[in-house]
Amino acid sequence: MFKGFTRFLQRPGERLKHLFGSQDGPGESPGLRVIPRDQHSVSRRLFSEPALKVLYRLHNAGYEAYLVGGCIRDSLLGKQPKDFDVATDATPEEVRELFRNSRIIGRRFRIVHVRFGREVIEVTTFRGKPNEDHGEHLSQQSDDGLLLRDNVWGDVEEDALRRDFTVNALYYNIADFSIHDWADGVSDIESRTLRMIGDPATRYREDPVRMLRAIRFAAKLDFDFAAATEAPIREMAPLLLQIPPARLFDEVLKLFLAGHALTTFRLLRDYDLFAMLFPEADEALSELPWAEALFERALANTDARIQQDRPVTPAFLFAALLWPGVVQRQARLQEDGMPPVPALQAAAQQAVSRQLQHISIPKRFSIPMREIWDLQQRLPQRRGRRAIQTREHPRFRAAYDFLLLREEAGEIKPGLGDWWTAFQEGDEHDQQRLLGKAASQGDEPRPRKRRPRKRRRRPGGAGGDQHG
Ligand code: ATP
Ligand code: MG
Repeated sequence: MFKGFTRFLQRPGERLKHLFGSQDGPGESPGLRVIPRDQHSVSRRLFSEPALKVLYRLHNAGYEAYLVGGCIRDSLLGKQPKDFDVATDATPEEVRELFRNSRIIGRRFRIVHVRFGREVIEVTTFRGKPNEDHGEHLSQQSDDGLLLRDNVWGDVEEDALRRDFTVNALYYNIADFSIHDWADGVSDIESRTLRMIGDPATRYREDPVRMLRAIRFAAKLDFDFAAATEAPIREMAPLLLQIPPARLFDEVLKLFLAGHALTTFRLLRDYDLFAMLFPEADEALSELPWAEALFERALANTDARIQQDRPVTPAFLFAALLWPGVVQRQARLQEDGMPPVPALQAAAQQAVSRQLQHISIPKRFSIPMREIWDLQQRLPQRRGRRAIQTREHPRFRAAYDFLLLREEAGEIKPGLGDWWTAFQEGDEHDQQRLLGKAASQGDEPRPRKRRPRKRRRRPGGAGGDQHG
């Protein structure tokens, strides 16, 4: 399957058919290149049944229909496409009429989701260039260039040039199985270059999330940035603060749950983007010696689990990224006299509410995240039935993994993790022995309950008051 593509890459000049336009300077359309079926490696067998169904039904109804974006890019790179995006000249309403199993979603950017069981095909109507005649209900841009609404329809060429990167503007035409390359994306795939279409600074201003997408694709595809694509990112990074937290949550999941979280994290830091997403975590990186190791290990574990097809939860990831902030806040509260348990609660509350100003975290993740933190306080207390109760907590496993992470990162001294490993693996007899050991080692006493602090007077004043 890949053979055809490499053959094509070896002699691109001969095999490409230039329909119109030429290789213009940056920012202008290099024009369309059509790569016929016998000159590329992308076979219909790579596409899902639902994706083909959508394409054929649109085509048979007389509309243009293309597969576009990541699925074509990844197919050309010999990777399994993650999902399938369809572009068409049918309006969302027309698409809705063709598919009973579909619904129109989005306001800023209206598209249709066509559902087949668990698979969703995203169908997008060609976007065009807005002009003054288009009312604000179709197209809207803020004074500083941010696209607030982008629902003006256009033709396929306009659509292609409004996409983000050249390698994402490749269209597979169901009418004749050719690939339409509008922005010289194939040669960028060949040289493994991530290049923004048009003027990068303008495109980032229109939609700052494109900076995150740049990082995501660079990490996932192992591509280098074109110089002009890379240049404005650091300076423009603060524009991410304009993006609604709900959209950033979706984007952060894509960044960290695609199997390249560690590389992505390093790139985000390098381009000053991480601080825009997780400001407190970023501060902790320069304040706490173990924070970097904690994040890097958490992200590397996530990548390894995805590699092994094991489940990952955003709760664990957020628990790790927010933890150093929680620890610092808890320490401050305890210095002010608050006992450990309420201090942890209050610290968690504060850290989460600061984070929510940037990235929303749905309750289904923030609740288990806080349970993972709470359990960190229970894991050292193993006397009596406590170890057994902790072991039965639904979040025990995640909390135990989190404890190991903290030990490995050097936040706390190792030992407790090993005890819990042995406790889980042991039979009843081993467990009794381990409980005895914990008791004899002077296991940490139970933290004090929340109680108004009373000045305790030392009997006789012996031992001396610090201020005495
Ligand atoms: P993935 O493999 O993650 O699905 P993708 O390139 O398909 O990568 P999607 O988010 O599925 O990314 O978007 C589909 C296509 O829509 C992209 O390839 C790109 O052409 C276009 N696109 C998506 N988001 C933007 C954006 N913010 N600005 C411009 N074009 C975009
Ligand atoms: Mg996609």
